[in-house]
Amino acid sequence: MSMILDGASVAARIKEKLGPRIQKLIAGNVTPCLATILVGADSSSETYVRMKGNACRKLGMESRRIHLDESTTTEQLVDEIRKLNDDATVHGILLQHPVPHHIDERAAFEAISIDKDVDGVTTLGFAQTAFGFGLYPSCTPAAIMTILDAYNLPIEGKHAVVIGRSPILGKPVSLMLLNRNATVTICHSKTERLDEIVKSADIVVAAVGKPKFVQGDWIKPGAVVMDAGYNKGNVGDVDYDACLLNAGAITPVPAGVGPVTIAMLLKHTVDAAERMCSK
Ligand code: NAP
Repeated sequence: MSMILDGASVAARIKEKLGPRIQKLIAGNVTPCLATILVGADSSSETYVRMKGNACRKLGMESRRIHLDESTTTEQLVDEIRKLNDDATVHGILLQHPVPHHIDERAAFEAISIDKDVDGVTTLGFAQTAFGFGLYPSCTPAAIMTILDAYNLPIEGKHAVVIGRSPILGKPVSLMLLNRNATVTICHSKTERLDEIVKSADIVVAAVGKPKFVQGDWIKPGAVVMDAGYNKGNVGDVDYDACLLNAGAITPVPAGVGPVTIAMLLKHTVDAAERMCSK
């Protein structure tokens, strides 16, 4: 029988702990503020940004939303980011991925000040995560690690297979697992015999962007399955019903990795506000 890893309750506990810290900051006339930048009119991105804004407001934090036109240039986007860097009332900056194709996304990410890089997207933020001392690792990888820890699931010595190598998800979560002494295999679209590799995993992280991609018979009995995927129709990257039969523990979609990702974003913003106040 699989254990269902309840991300919603893990997220609720994180947010509960943030409450008094936010109130203390507000009492000192500092309202933790997350600025989200959305470029263009992608409906999924709009939903994600709205969810993040609502989560901020529910906790008494400020959410500043910058919505730029589809035709925005890289230079204009970088200028907006620099304004937010210079604004002392903003503590975290999140540029919603993806941006329109004509924009140099890397240049835009790099423009974010390391002090406000609450989603670990800059080269420096990523490198700090890789070295194991990152203040603000990417929120989805951080959420995956937080869920594993919340359920005391062992990481050290385990074979973790990560499917996906994106800079915001597959790569950082692989490094975070490695830093916790897992033996990590990173798979991608050119990987051969993926099913065989996944069958040897104690921990499977699905970060593929393809609905129901991971099949039930790929899962070793008792393995932990972390589904980072979020596809149209509230479907993950794992065939949940089929994987449930073999998995020892599994995150559902929705109410798995997603809510914890948002909670980590709020936590990183509060952490950043506290650090800025103490400077
Ligand atoms: P991405 O940038 O599109 O990366 C997908 C990765 O999957 C790539 O590394 C790609 O390999 C690999 N891949 C694609 N097809 C494959 C195949 N047939 N076999 C093996 N690997 C394959 O996606 P992402 O931004 O990392 O997001 C991944 C998933 O997580 C999506 O479902 C997304 O919606 C979700 N997500 C969720 C949250 C959350 O809060 N829960 C946050 C962010 C993302 P190559 O590198 O070779 O192309």
